Order: sequence, then structure tokens, then C-alpha cells
Amino acid sequence: MKWLRDLWNWFWRWVRRAPVPLRPIIVEDLPDALESKIVYLVGEGAYLWYAAMLCPCGCGETLHMSFLPDGHPKWELLRHDDGTVSLHPSVWRTKGCRSHFFLRKGMIVWCEPSSAPD
Ligand SMILES: [Zn+2]
Repeated sequence: MKWLRDLWNWFWRWVRRAPVPLRPIIVEDLPDALESKIVYLVGEGAYLWYAAMLCPCGCGETLHMSFLPDGHPKWELLRHDDGTVSLHPSVWRTKGCRSHFFLRKGMIVWCEPSSAPD
């Protein structure tokens, strides 16, 4: 049954090469337990206050990205035709795991760890 194993290996290579984008959902209240493949857009009606997601490094921290105009830092949300979202600028944790990444069209794009301050 070598062909079956080959097919299985090919399948897993393909799965790993094609990561699934994070799916945005709009909520009025952030749930107690977040799911890792979802970007939560918290707001009411047409107005969004912030985005929240689990840290993609796997440390389990919840990240909050404010959209409030007088917030600091604050992020810009871009919504794309394919239903995915991007955040601008990058998300950079200055404590804990120090993850630094971009969210582009629902995909995590890691920044070089060497660019993080000590
Ligand atoms: Zn982390």
C-alpha cells in the first residue's frame, strides 16, 4: 500500500503549504474563550471598536487592537472582497512572547525576530 502512504504524505504537505486564513467575525461582546482561527471584530452596528485574536505564536494570550481614533496604539482595519481582513500597522507584543507579525488577508506574516528590541 505504498501508493496510499505517498498520497497521505502528499496530502499533508499540501495541507501545510496552504494555511487557512483567519476568519473575521463581528461580535458585540468578546466571548470568554477565543478560537484560534478567528479574528473577532468587536463593535456595535457599523462601528467597530477593536479587533481581538489569540496570539498566533500559541502562547495563549489574547491580543487587542484598538480602532478608536484617539487610541494609542491604534490600528486600521482593511476588509477585502474575499471576506478576509488585514490590520495595519503590524502587531508587535512588547512583553511576553514578543510576537511581531502582520495580518494580511487573514494570513499571519511573521516579522524577523532579530528586529525586536531587547
Ligand atoms: Zn504569543
